[in-house]
Amino acid sequence: MSSILGMINIHYRYEDSPGLRHSCGVCGTPLNHPRARKSCITRHTEPCIAFHHTLFRVGRGHSCEPCNKSREMHLKRHRELLETIRDIHGKMELKTPIPSLSQIEELIHGYRHENLGANRTALDRAMIRDVERREKLSADMDRRPPATMDNELLREIAKKFGIIVKGKLPKDLQVSILRLCERLVKDIDTLCNESRETMKRQFGYYRYADKRSFNVLLRRIDPNNTEDLLEITDDEGGNDGDDDEDDEDDARQPAPPPPPPKRNSRNRPPSRTTGPMTITIVPNAPRDGPLPPRTPNHPIGTPLIRKEDREEERY
Ligand SMILES: [Zn+2]
Ligand SMILES: [Zn+2]
Ligand SMILES: [Zn+2]
Repeated sequence: MSSILGMINIHYRYEDSPGLRHSCGVCGTPLNHPRARKSCITRHTEPCIAFHHTLFRVGRGHSCEPCNKSREMHLKRHRELLETIRDIHGKMELKTPIPSLSQIEELIHGYRHENLGANRTALDRAMIRDVERREKLSADMDRRPPATMDNELLREIAKKFGIIVKGKLPKDLQVSILRLCERLVKDIDTLCNESRETMKRQFGYYRYADKRSFNVLLRRIDPNNTEDLLEITDDEGGNDGDDDEDDEDDARQPAPPPPPPKRNSRNRPPSRTTGPMTITIVPNAPRDGPLPPRTPNHPIGTPLIRKEDREEERY
């Protein structure tokens, strides 16, 4: 299981994606503004289940166009598979039932997408399964394996479709079997790549907006990986989105120590500090020693006498 983590870029920066160049649909804050990270993202917006680059108003994530497109393409691949399975069943004169579209999905991938809904845990497990399935097809993830019945996984899946191949086959059946293998490889490989991309975006989104979920996903994929776990600071528990323009590096640094309390000759009690502002409590105690005599104010209208003038007055 741990090898999967090596196939996903967990350091992807979701915040650099073009999806954040829009403004929040609720409060109008540009989503790439540091303030939006706490005030809008996860509060006013939500990602789609595949963490595509558009953030939606809360409750609208299901309307994601790339998600719908991807599902449509997936269904198309299964329809093509069904067509090939039907063709082979005909040519082999099989009496076993032809699987339905949803059975095909379950037999290839081990689950049905429509049963996952928006359940994050189930979705994550399904993606892990997609990558594992692709690995079972062949160890080289960068190149599609040869699509033949020599492949153990392909043989296994074909058998579940009721198709068992033995001995020398007629030419036209060979062609159909080859097509079945090619379509299976394409389907498994495509879904795996999509799942890897989704997990990449998901890690990026979580690193930016939800560090707890980042760690949950990391543990789900590889429980032994502790070096990539993110440190979560106290202020990331309950955000109130006021003054924070910090990025995650700032958030990890400890707050500077409060300045040492000032004391002076009048023996004030130590200052109390609240955040950056210093409040000094001054008691109503008498000063040390008598106050100097107060100089009376000049009555209004009295001209000020310069020193030189006073010198002259003496004579
Ligand atoms: Zn907002
Ligand atoms: Zn989507
Ligand atoms: Zn599929």
